[in-house]
Amino acid sequence: MKKISIVIPVHNEEGNISLMHQRIQAVFSKLENYNFEMIFVNDGSRDNSQAILEKLSQDFNNVKFIEFSRNFGHQPAVKAGLDFADGNAVISMDADLQHPPELIPELIQKWEEGYDVVLTNRKYPKEISFFKKKTSEIFYRFLSRISDVDLKNGGGSDFRLMDANVVQSFRNFTEDDLFLRGLTSWMGYKQTTISFVAGTRNAGESSYNIKKMMKFAFTGITAFSVKPLYLAAYLGFMFSVLSVVGYGIYVIESFVSGTEISGWASLIMTIVFFGGLQLIILGIFGIYLGKIFKQVKERPNYIVRSKKL
Ligand code: UDP
Ligand code: MG
Repeated sequence: MKKISIVIPVHNEEGNISLMHQRIQAVFSKLENYNFEMIFVNDGSRDNSQAILEKLSQDFNNVKFIEFSRNFGHQPAVKAGLDFADGNAVISMDADLQHPPELIPELIQKWEEGYDVVLTNRKYPKEISFFKKKTSEIFYRFLSRISDVDLKNGGGSDFRLMDANVVQSFRNFTEDDLFLRGLTSWMGYKQTTISFVAGTRNAGESSYNIKKMMKFAFTGITAFSVKPLYLAAYLGFMFSVLSVVGYGIYVIESFVSGTEISGWASLIMTIVFFGGLQLIILGIFGIYLGKIFKQVKERPNYIVRSKKL
């Protein structure tokens, strides 16, 4: 019998874990030909989540948990689940029921048809703010454009199924700044996408605020594109051409009209402008340098405090 592993990152989800477990259990009670396990990854929750997980894993053999030593983030939590899952296919999904477990049979169906990766394309329900919908849409379009990965279809969701082979490939990644959506797209394999309407969060509140979303977006861009680094070269080239042309015009003009070149204000503005531009570009270099610095230390993505597998 084939085995499906479900990986669920948990950060302060005490109000959702039991319901999540029940809903998945219900789904698999109708899928008789499959074994399944649930691997909850407790990413440094400060609420009762760990106690609930320990109880649940005592009551049910196929409920497992990995407890982190502190909060490492959503992406490392999913990675940890993939590192420990041994199913023939692994499904990752959020704990807050925004990813409907009832979609699991459809994911498995596509996998059985021969796809290695089944992505989901999240359509937002009416209740989600216009702001979040738009910013996320613009971000994924922008990221797809400036990087080598295509995230337009199904990129924006961490609800996906991966074949054991794909999961094995994932284990070889030692990247510091994990951006699993990008990595999945980058890896290739046979991929397909299905759509679903995301629900609203069941209980508790979202761990992603604007600051975390910005950081996530930044990670995505700098992990998958070096184009910002080329900005300096492009701009430098553009301004060199402009200055040669401008210089020519000024010299000819001063000969023809016989006047000195005037314009103290414009000179200062030019100096300020280029000073600013140089700092921005230096900053971009700094960001990439920082990433290299973090990477060469080769720290692990997460630390496990306890686990039951
Ligand atoms: N999560 C996590 N670590 C974090 C933040 C979130 O493991 O630092 C988990 C969280 O428990 C949930 C999933 O990641 O299962 C998605 O988080 P959330 O629902 O807060 O994000 P949103 O759906 O609002 O984007
Ligand atoms: Mg959520």
